[in-house]
This record gives sequence, structure tokens and C-alpha cells, in this order.
Amino acid sequence: MAAVFCIANQKGGVGKTTTAVNLASGLSRLKKKVLLIDLDPQGNATMGSGVQKSELESSVYEVLLGLEDIKNVRQRPPAIQFDVLPSNRNLSAAEVEMVNLERRERRLREALDAVQDEYDFILIDCPPALSLLTLNAFCSADGVIIPMQCEYFALEGLSDLLNTVRHVYSNMNPQLNTIGLLLLRVMFDKRVTLSVHVSNQLEKHFGNRVLKTVIPRNVRMAEAPSYGLPGIDFDPSSKGAKAYLACVEELLAWLETHR
Ligand code: ATP
Ligand code: MG
Repeated sequence: MAAVFCIANQKGGVGKTTTAVNLASGLSRLKKKVLLIDLDPQGNATMGSGVQKSELESSVYEVLLGLEDIKNVRQRPPAIQFDVLPSNRNLSAAEVEMVNLERRERRLREALDAVQDEYDFILIDCPPALSLLTLNAFCSADGVIIPMQCEYFALEGLSDLLNTVRHVYSNMNPQLNTIGLLLLRVMFDKRVTLSVHVSNQLEKHFGNRVLKTVIPRNVRMAEAPSYGLPGIDFDPSSKGAKAYLACVEELLAWLETHR
């Protein structure tokens, strides 16, 4: 059975997609079988893995609505070592169309049953909202990775996110506590005093729930998506790539001791 992680934060532009594609790449480099699910209508994880979102015959949208089998929709882009369940703007309609469906928050989970055993890891890139799509991710997951920029407003909204995760854990998906919450500091600049201060606060507050690896701000990570590649594949020697690889190692070690 795959370990299922969602990468979530309802704040926009905090590094969710960058984290999702690089963890997928890093895990696959260690010979783990990985499925990356793009659950965001923006389709950034799709494009960032080298899949053209405008040319999809079907996407995660059809899977959620039960119109297409997940096995026919996932694909393996030529330049990378993991599978992708792609998305595009069609997905924004799913939010509305799912509202009247039965078990609407479990559509993704039920679709994943068919492929769970084929993977070691399933990573879900969430949209920047605590929406029905994100709820579907939480209902499918064993754990949530929250990328955070250590800025003044970083903590704002965190309690809503934590409350939602707790609510899902208590009422919908007890499995979410298998791994629970992990915070990842991203786009970090250690020269900025405020960042160091916020980072220390996070450690004080969340203890071992804060991953020790810190992802630095690194322009190579920002350039990679325009080449349709995760930063790790685009420039493996960059500081960002090395940090994400270290993060993968830490995650695997964490799972060894906590599962
Ligand atoms: P959204 O909420 O819109 O889905 P997101 O949380 O997925 O955004 P990303 O798209 O991963 O965030 O990152 C936002 C921007 O920051 C992107 O332009 C990305 O390339 C850039 N970025 C992410 N991580 C880094 C990093 N470590 N160093 C420099 N730039 C980064
Ligand atoms: Mg994103």
C-alpha cells in the first residue's frame, strides 16, 4: 500500500507545487514508485512534470466524476521517473459538479483504491484553498505536508488549516493520523532576520512536526517549471535540488521511525 501525502496550504504561491514535483522526483530517484496527482485546476504540477495541460484527452476531472478509469488517465512523461495524474482548468467545474454527488469528499479516495498497490508513494498537489478538492485530498491521505514561507503572515491561516485537518481526522479519515502533519520551511533566506525568527517560532510551537531540512530560495527551482522539469532534474547540483533530496531522505527516515 502506498503512503499518501497531500501537499497543502490554502495560501497561494507558498511552494506547494514545487515541493510536490521535487519530492516526486527525489523519491523516484531512490527507486520508489510514485504517482503525483495534480489536484489544482491551474495545472502547474502537470506542466512542471512536462505534460501539456492543454492537450489532455482526459484528466483528474473525469476520474473524480467517475467518467474515466484512473489507469487510463495517468501518464508517464518521457523525461521523468514517476507517473502523473494530470489536471487542467476543467477541474474547476468538478468542484460544482461534485456537490450533488454521493460521498463527494471521497471520490478521489475511491478512485485511488484501484492503484494503491502499484505505488510506494502517492503525492497530491492541492489548490490554494480549503475547498472540496482539498477535502478530497485530506480524505485520501495518511499525512499532510505543509510548505511554509517564514514570513510575517506565514502563521495566518495556519490555524484554519490545522482545524480542517483535525476535523477530517476525527470525522472522515482516521488514517490521516498515520503520519499526520509535517511542516516544511521553503524559499528560506537565512540572511533575513524575520525569517530566522519565524522559523524558530515554528520549531518552538510544532517541535518534531517541523522537518529539519530547510529549502532555500534558489532561482534554479523557479526556472525549472518552464522546462517542464522538477528542479531536481533540471539542475541536480543546485542548492534547491540538494535540499529537496535531503528532505526526501529525512521523510523516509521519519517514516521508518513513526510507522
Ligand atoms: P499556488 O498556490 O498558486 O498553487 P504554490 O503554493 O504551488 O502556488 P509554487 O508554484 O510551488 O507555489 O511556487 C510559487 C513560485 O515560487 C513559483 O514561481 C516557483 O517557481 C517559486 N519557487 C518555489 N520554490 C522556490 C524556491 N525554493 N526558490 C525560488 N523560487 C521558488
Ligand atoms: Mg501550486
